[in-house]
Amino acid sequence: MAEPTVRLHVRPPQTTPAHRKQLRTLVREGVENRPGVYRMIGPTGTVIYVGQSRVLRTRLLSYFRAKGRRNKAARILRHAFHIEWEYTNTEFGALLRELRLIKQHRPHFNSMMVADDWPRAYVAITGGPVPGVRVVPRSDDPQATALFGPFRRVAQVREAVRALAEATGLRDCLIDDVPPARTPARPRTQPRALPLWFASESPERAGSRSRAPGCLRHDLGTCAGPCVGAGDATAYRDMARTLREFLEGRSDAPVRTLEGAMQAASDALAFEQARVLRDRLALVAWLHERVQHFHANVDRLTFAYQATGPGDTEWVYLVRRGTVRAEVRAPRTAQQQQSLEELQQRIFEGPDPQGADIPTHDLDEFYLVASWFRRRPLEKKRTRAPFTSRS
Ligand code: SF4
Repeated sequence: MAEPTVRLHVRPPQTTPAHRKQLRTLVREGVENRPGVYRMIGPTGTVIYVGQSRVLRTRLLSYFRAKGRRNKAARILRHAFHIEWEYTNTEFGALLRELRLIKQHRPHFNSMMVADDWPRAYVAITGGPVPGVRVVPRSDDPQATALFGPFRRVAQVREAVRALAEATGLRDCLIDDVPPARTPARPRTQPRALPLWFASESPERAGSRSRAPGCLRHDLGTCAGPCVGAGDATAYRDMARTLREFLEGRSDAPVRTLEGAMQAASDALAFEQARVLRDRLALVAWLHERVQHFHANVDRLTFAYQATGPGDTEWVYLVRRGTVRAEVRAPRTAQQQQSLEELQQRIFEGPDPQGADIPTHDLDEFYLVASWFRRRPLEKKRTRAPFTSRS
């Protein structure tokens, strides 16, 4: 008979009132009221919480007034054995630094307290030997090689992406997407994931495998069927490139293809087929419009932003497509102005080294920058088009 499982619940160690008093003295004597970030350190030296404030000292001292078992600040402080802090040049810089530290350390209390205020859907191009397209709920999906969104109307995005997959013949399944190191043990009731391959690339294996059970797309002719060795590898990858261009807002080829197919079905009096294609076209055209809107918003977030820091110091942030590429002191001499212009040319001229999509790790920064200017229209007035050699 199997031994019963014993689960031990170990309470994480907490600080004593005397220790918290020492921390308060440390803050009172050492921290200034300037913009900055702070890290709460747990008993083993790991960062358990990262925060930021425009007035760091006031913010940190507020933790010591927090009371109650459920109070967020009081709970964090009970587990903080040490506090570290650093100053930033501006409040905007503090927000950026906080975001980057959270991504670096993934502190326990920050992850616990993240609450999505609205459901999101991202359109992901998945990697692996055979690219596919899928809707994922999070911006850190491990299988996504490129991510677009988020979009709010999750159900409609799902339908549109299925229509897009059907229009392009690309897969939208999970087969082979899980990297081997992370493959979880699968329950017996689930089909085994089959490796994807094309008969044109491995003719000796053609016909030796069967399709994953439960997928009708190949039967219906809406997926090339790489899982059964069907389809042509070159044509499939060409279509994957087209799909990427569509999601980058550089091509409307799937819309045009569907329009042509619908017209052909209508001319052939295949009205049922024309109706199916019309519905698919409406969804793909809607997604195309959302994608264009998304990229227009990204491109709008390209500028030089001058922000004021403590002591009326001025700082320039160079923002390209929603991510901050440099932070420098505002020039006060002709030589400093010349250096800034050269830096701007390097950052803003030529194709974006990041490519047309926003790397998944930069999406959060894009939303931080967008929300900063949305909530502070006066700060938006302190942005200007970047200097380039064409200016
Ligand atoms: S036919 Fe095969 S490759 Fe295509 S979606 Fe279905 S399981 Fe995936």
